[in-house]
Amino acid sequence: MNTQDYIKIEDQYGAHNYHPLDVVINKAKGVWVWDVDGNKYLDCLAAYSAVNQGHCHPRIIKAMKEQADKVTLTSRAFRNDQLPLLCKELCELTGYEMMLPMNSGAEAIETAIKASRKWGYKTKNIPKNSAEIIVCENNFAGRTITVISFSSEEQYKDGFGPLTPGFKIIPFNDVDALEKSITPNTVAFIVEPVQGEGGVIIPSDGYLKKAHDICKKNNVLLITDEIQSGLGRTGKLFAFEYDGIKPDVVTIGKALSGGCYPVSAVLSSKEVLGVFNPGDHGSTFGGNPLGAAIARESIKVLIEEKLIENSFELGKYFMDRLQEIKSPHIKEIRGKGLFIGVELKDEANGARRFCEALMKKGILCKETHVNVIRFAPPLVITKEEIDWAMERINEVLMMK
Ligand SMILES: *Cc1c(COP(=O)(O)O)cnc(C)c1O
Repeated sequence: MNTQDYIKIEDQYGAHNYHPLDVVINKAKGVWVWDVDGNKYLDCLAAYSAVNQGHCHPRIIKAMKEQADKVTLTSRAFRNDQLPLLCKELCELTGYEMMLPMNSGAEAIETAIKASRKWGYKTKNIPKNSAEIIVCENNFAGRTITVISFSSEEQYKDGFGPLTPGFKIIPFNDVDALEKSITPNTVAFIVEPVQGEGGVIIPSDGYLKKAHDICKKNNVLLITDEIQSGLGRTGKLFAFEYDGIKPDVVTIGKALSGGCYPVSAVLSSKEVLGVFNPGDHGSTFGGNPLGAAIARESIKVLIEEKLIENSFELGKYFMDRLQEIKSPHIKEIRGKGLFIGVELKDEANGARRFCEALMKKGILCKETHVNVIRFAPPLVITKEEIDWAMERINEVLMMK
């Protein structure tokens, strides 16, 4: 079967909730993927930053295979010997007191929302069912009903009501709006340090620091969603480090398992995660030994192979090389580490056609928000591979 055969089958039997590029991948290694027709591509999306460690990283695959031969799922009705070590290693690495494991990013966000609401009722005497959470316009935090309830994107919500109440949307990068929107019932402010799906939008320097101080002053939890920006993507372990702060709650996912398994987590204090009692919250697969073993190795790879440092340095190089491109279509190039967005002018007629042209030249990217091409390759990328990509990116951005 070739590419068109697979696409036909998927279009017939699979729900059309995505608009993928017409490439059918059946093999991957590091920054490279291959399609069923034998073509090779440089992956510049890295599964929305879930494969920061590179595809099929040998150490992570080994840990996965070894654990698969021992035990894969106990449920939390029983204990396993991997989850305790994942909790300890993650907390020691990040400086948080506790973690709660889930599977998808959206579930980590839901968990953070439940924790902060319950924390608010317990510590702030908020009247029953009145807790408020502040979020930013243009956010992305997943696709469950509660999470889309606070999206500002109409398509995400259209036809899916009734939605979950209790959220206030304010502009991103606006600390005055944050200060004004806080009431005695506010329990948390959820923010992405860099808005990924929103188009790689980077706030002003010091924004998170100011937001942090406002939250502290008002006894409101600062929740940073590092599901995409975290684990090395921006050139730091967490993007919030650029502001020299420590948020009250952090959500992580995606690269936590190096793309090998869905693993997410909420990191916080004993005061916040301590609100959960047995029976309050859970997940059949959350904290399973297979996912935990994979996550443990994925974190070790990130640190021991200095992928965070590589992201910092090669992110700069990637940006510098992009700046050299004299394309009439480019409106703005922005980025932090290997989290880079090229925003095109309206006259360029959308980023999609550029992504399709890049695919023909052997580079896989995905447009975000119509006008932005996101470049977020696995953090194992080398300078030579960036040079190889840049020749092709240059050609494509120079096309009419
Ligand atoms: C991808 C993403 C999520 C949701 O993660 P899923 O695993 O797709 O549920 C949440 N927040 C941010 C910032 C993301 O990029």
